[in-house]
Amino acid sequence: MSNTVRTRFAPSPTGYLHLGGARTALFNWLFARQHKGTFVLRVEDTDQARNTEEAFGAIYAGMEWMGLDWDEGFQKGGDYGPYNQSERHDIYLRWFEKLEKDGRVYQEEDGAWRFRFERKEVTMTDLVCGEITIDYTNEEINPDMTVRRPDGSFTFHFVNVVDDLEMKISHVIRGEDHLMNTPKHLQLYEAFGVEPPQFAHIPLILNDNGKKMSKRDEGAAVKDYVDLGFFPEAMTNFVALLGWNPKSEQEIFSISELIEKFDLAHINRAPARFDLKKALWMNQQYLAQLPQDEFFTQSLPYLEAAGLPTDGEVTRTAVALVQEKVNSFDDIAAAISFLFDASFPYDDEALAKVAKNADAPALLAALKNNWAQLENWDEAKDQIGATAKAEGSKPGKLMFPVRVALSGLGGGIDLGEIISLLGKEACIARLERFLAL
Ligand code: GLU
Repeated sequence: MSNTVRTRFAPSPTGYLHLGGARTALFNWLFARQHKGTFVLRVEDTDQARNTEEAFGAIYAGMEWMGLDWDEGFQKGGDYGPYNQSERHDIYLRWFEKLEKDGRVYQEEDGAWRFRFERKEVTMTDLVCGEITIDYTNEEINPDMTVRRPDGSFTFHFVNVVDDLEMKISHVIRGEDHLMNTPKHLQLYEAFGVEPPQFAHIPLILNDNGKKMSKRDEGAAVKDYVDLGFFPEAMTNFVALLGWNPKSEQEIFSISELIEKFDLAHINRAPARFDLKKALWMNQQYLAQLPQDEFFTQSLPYLEAAGLPTDGEVTRTAVALVQEKVNSFDDIAAAISFLFDASFPYDDEALAKVAKNADAPALLAALKNNWAQLENWDEAKDQIGATAKAEGSKPGKLMFPVRVALSGLGGGIDLGEIISLLGKEACIARLERFLAL
């Protein structure tokens, strides 16, 4: 198979690059790279009314961000261009004329042209879905299909097949929504007298509710992940596991491992389940592995966007402390901004939890007095437990209220670190502010 493998991603530029498209592109890319083949980017832009420049841009940008470089197509050229369907009319015409000459098309009264199916059974062997047979003997169930419209333009089925054969595509890897189009395409290949490519239809992606994922679902657009500060590698890793896994426990795959291990045989037939939490977890794994300095440097634009200081010891320490806690660069500001803002807000859930602890106000007030008398601030954290015990309570009863009083948050940076970063004056002021609530 090697060096003759040619795959393609064939998006219709009518919207942003969504998760399903990114996965189709990734699987085709991985397969081509694994076989030292060629990955083609073809733009199916025949629907002029729905195509936009913006959509073009979003698709290229999304692919580039994920590292899915193509060998032929936009900006790359290649021997089988043009790679935009809108520029390939003459090629379509040539293949259409062959069908006409062979008596395989006929014109309807309205001017549309139909392709005469052979009235027989057509069996396809899909590399993922297995054998599928469609019976074309009944004309009522499977009427001849339109290949050319009255205005002279060609339909999706026709141009899709002509392009794949002209571009010498060896493997068509695409969404399961195209599975039932394939027998029609096989009829066309046969009429053209050309060997068809191999087909692999990859499963649908379902959202949280078990419904087919749609453009409106959270996390549907690749751009959302770019904005969140995702690592392209984490995204690629996550997307690769939507419908594929090598039947092992391994979940973290580098790009080169994916290229090595990816195979069509381990693509699931069952739909893939989209889980945003899993995507965030995946990104967190990549973040945690980053050298501390690099994590800091990469976080700077996000700090700046949130209006937080980008230099100084507190920032540096705080950013380092949240490295293993945040899911994305975008989360950093929310985890550390309280350090720089004395009038930070309190998290509702954390407040409600403190409110259920009847001892909290008295314990906090006692701690405030003890802290005020403390000479060595290094002992401040230990005083929490000591204070609780002295008041006849347990350390756990006081820890959480102190955390909320100092940070407004129910979790995050280690409490001892918060106390030391803020210093005595700020800590006492924050206890006072909280007690006044
Ligand atoms: N433009 C088609 C789509 O986006 C491509 C189908 C195919 O890959 O053959 O669904």
